[in-house]
Amino acid sequence: MLPSTPVYEIYAVKYAGPFIRPLAKVLWNTDWEKEIEINYYIWVVKGKDEILIVDCGVSPSLAQEMGLQGYMNPVHVLKGIGIEASQVKKVVITHIHFDHTNGIELFPKATFYVQEKEFNFWIKDPVAKKPPFLRLSAPDRNANLANLEGTGRLVIIKGDQAILPGIELLLAPGHTPGLQVVAVNTAKGTAIVGSDCAHIFRNYEEEIPSTFITDMVAWMKTYDKLKSKVSSINLLFPGHDLKMATHYPKVAEGITRLV
Ligand SMILES: [Zn+2]
Repeated sequence: MLPSTPVYEIYAVKYAGPFIRPLAKVLWNTDWEKEIEINYYIWVVKGKDEILIVDCGVSPSLAQEMGLQGYMNPVHVLKGIGIEASQVKKVVITHIHFDHTNGIELFPKATFYVQEKEFNFWIKDPVAKKPPFLRLSAPDRNANLANLEGTGRLVIIKGDQAILPGIELLLAPGHTPGLQVVAVNTAKGTAIVGSDCAHIFRNYEEEIPSTFITDMVAWMKTYDKLKSKVSSINLLFPGHDLKMATHYPKVAEGITRLV
């Protein structure tokens, strides 16, 4: 990045959890007898003049329907660092799983950025209605996103694309067909909000994805791509690791500064 490129901070916003999961689900086929705790997050990328939200979490109505443990409305959590969700202008949707996409209504003035491959799969491809996919993203959950098509509030991204100076979306398939991550210029160099490309830091450290994977070969190529882009491996952030809430400076209730 050029020296004049804006520098951003990245915050993890925990909105649900902790949840206990079999380790083998989160770290592909590893240690079937062990368990691990995870959280649900969205992220804030904050510059001098810009706020970008990455993913939009789950709406209060779905959280109640699911009995989502430890749920806090992301709208309330974001107020902790002075962000009014109703005024947010830009939201990146990393992928169309309910825990990352359902809360679109929480950001009524935002424009949403989603990869064309991801949108076309989950919204239009009949395969997305097969049982394993339905578990993660029932079509009725995606109606609020589908309804934005053709309006100015949905920007379809094709591959790698800079959306602001110092912020680039990277196509990163594997977990889903068109997952995208957000590469961000920070004080420590290029960091990546990787969302569910990996669930936990160990996926990257050990080069083993979670079991929630639609294409293992694509995942391996994606990981090589992200490693070549990020300034250091500990600036590559996963989607659900408990450590994002416990091992970084806490700046407000449910919010930590990752970099
Ligand atoms: Zn996911």
